[in-house]
Amino acid sequence: APREDPGEVRSTCPYCGVGCGVLLRMTGENGIAVRGDPDHPANFGRLCSKGSALGETVGLDGRLLTARVNGTPAGWGETLQLVADRFRQTISDHGPDSVAFYVSGQMLTEDYYVANKLMKGFIGSANIDTNSRLCMASTVAGHKRAFGTDTVPGTYEDLDEADLIVLVGSNLAWCHPVLHQRVLAAKAARGTRIVVVDPRRTATCDGADLHLPLRIGSDVALFNRLLAAICEGGAIDREYTRNVEGFEAAVASARAAQIAPTGLSERLVQRFCALWLRHEKVVTVFSQGVNQSSAGTDKVNAILNCHIATGRIGRPGMGPLSVTGQPNAMGGREVGGLANTLACHLDLGNAEHRAAVRAFWDAPQMPDRPGLKAVDLFRAVSDGRIKALWVMHSNPAVTLPEADAVRDAIAACDFTVVSDITAETDTARLAHVLLPAAAWSEKSGSVTNSDRTISRQRAVRAAPGEARPDWWHMAEVGRRMGWPRAFDYSGPAEIFREHAALSGIAGGFGLDFDVSGLAELSNAEYEAMTPVRWPVAARRGGRFFAEGQSFHPGGRMHMIPVTWRAPAARHAPRFPFRLNTGRIRDQWHTMTRSGLSPRLSAHLAEPFAEIHPEDAARLGIARDTLVEVASPSGRAILRAQITDAVQPGTIFAPMHWTGETAPSGRIDALVAAATDPVSGQPESKAAVCAVAPFAA
Ligand code: SF4
Repeated sequence: APREDPGEVRSTCPYCGVGCGVLLRMTGENGIAVRGDPDHPANFGRLCSKGSALGETVGLDGRLLTARVNGTPAGWGETLQLVADRFRQTISDHGPDSVAFYVSGQMLTEDYYVANKLMKGFIGSANIDTNSRLCMASTVAGHKRAFGTDTVPGTYEDLDEADLIVLVGSNLAWCHPVLHQRVLAAKAARGTRIVVVDPRRTATCDGADLHLPLRIGSDVALFNRLLAAICEGGAIDREYTRNVEGFEAAVASARAAQIAPTGLSERLVQRFCALWLRHEKVVTVFSQGVNQSSAGTDKVNAILNCHIATGRIGRPGMGPLSVTGQPNAMGGREVGGLANTLACHLDLGNAEHRAAVRAFWDAPQMPDRPGLKAVDLFRAVSDGRIKALWVMHSNPAVTLPEADAVRDAIAACDFTVVSDITAETDTARLAHVLLPAAAWSEKSGSVTNSDRTISRQRAVRAAPGEARPDWWHMAEVGRRMGWPRAFDYSGPAEIFREHAALSGIAGGFGLDFDVSGLAELSNAEYEAMTPVRWPVAARRGGRFFAEGQSFHPGGRMHMIPVTWRAPAARHAPRFPFRLNTGRIRDQWHTMTRSGLSPRLSAHLAEPFAEIHPEDAARLGIARDTLVEVASPSGRAILRAQITDAVQPGTIFAPMHWTGETAPSGRIDALVAAATDPVSGQPESKAAVCAVAPFAA
């Protein structure tokens, strides 16, 4: 394909946190041809199966084309007024904490910014949380404990230069395929060694030198052992750790740890530790297997401790690198779209920070305490504390733990608004008001990927029917609620400039997230913006922590003493199995987009359960038959895949499917609503369950 095609528009893939650049060209009235952008630093032209099939998912079948009130098409004016009136009345009757927004890592940074500003600055509550809570909240909490801020130290280039890449709780080959190709390219080019730490033998193990099939939830024990081995092997960086707070306590905790919880042999653990000690250039990539745990934050800090102790952080080819699930989980973190964050990495609990943001927004109020995190937010919907709820681009009736209870809670909520591109999600079907949203390829804005690179998403066609961008929905409601000046935006460029200017305040407080160098972009410059990694003010040259300075007051890096603890859900005679959930290669979330592609749906067409052959034989389960998987909170009917990729006593099932007829894969209905005590992230990979042949 030609490198330059004047008909092509640069944009970004809307799926995972790799954030691949794409080139889009209209074909006919509604078709879009998609190819990888050879100049984008995340992918250099590569795309995975999902990105390659984007053109098959942009048809208008199933699109929500008009606003609807109680199922009846309605005009924008009356619908927006209704939403504004109901939220204003609820706040007047019950206070600002009686309303909530549940937003999404699918939203663009500009949309996220307006949502956060409306809720925290003008409604005056911190009850805005995001489905990114289910994805990487433990990483945010772990980063903040170690560094004082939610700073990702690593970059994708580090993968190109590493001698050892450790993939923890990450099926990178399926969930971040283009990054996995980059890892394999490093192996081919420079012999990079690859270690996979995962209870399952996944596709990622195919290219690995070593697989550590540890028990579910035992990562802290493994990385404590690694830290002890680092000490014994003389690999502590004395200069780097001279000023580290918590070093002695973290090392003492590691030395006291046992590897028994991992279930791994001493020999295998020693091989892993020896590889770590032998190679200075180590990158540890971690993802949902680390985060989605009741000990997720401790797992993150167990990993960070090893990099801090060795000073292997912030230098080329080394450091921890969390990979986010969604295209703009990072942008949501930057704007403060979590219930316990403010904006631009400023601190909700810091009075000076709150005052600065309030003054910048000229806001009437500002909450001084965190709002409800996702699981607690839907509990508050259930018990009636939340009386007006706005869900944007998410399907919590399927994806939250104990999803059946969440579905019932939304159904019983006094007033629910859903913004989406389709009315056909489980959550949209429960809404009183549906707002038609512009989809990928129809809306403009920016996203930030897993290595802090900000890229533009661009529209190549007009939104169909009455669909409008999310920032417009919220700005129009904000104006109707009584704040016309604060929400008088002309478009995403103006919102982006405001966000960038606000980040200058964070920079002024000495924090990491500072893109104020972009605050003066003209509309034309914003339109032409090429990918850029923050910090844009470039005071630190785009790298963090190489010198051992953190963003904690006093500048000291922190190591956190951590101790292994078992997953929260405990086995009982009725529920003897451990249930691990995750993604498959060719589907995304609850399949509202990827499910439209026949090619993608052909990969794995039904919800399934991976079951170990010993368990299958004992329970009389034959290959490809239906099994019932049940937990204390729900059940699913799945197709049995008999495989020793899972360990005896464990089940793996994907999280994408919904529906009530067999096979039915509402797998998060089975997941207990147990959360990490620091991050509030649910434990989506360690529920308990029973398995039996399904009798229709
Ligand atoms: Fe899209 Fe992720 Fe695939 Fe890249 S790796 S094409 S961002 S789904």
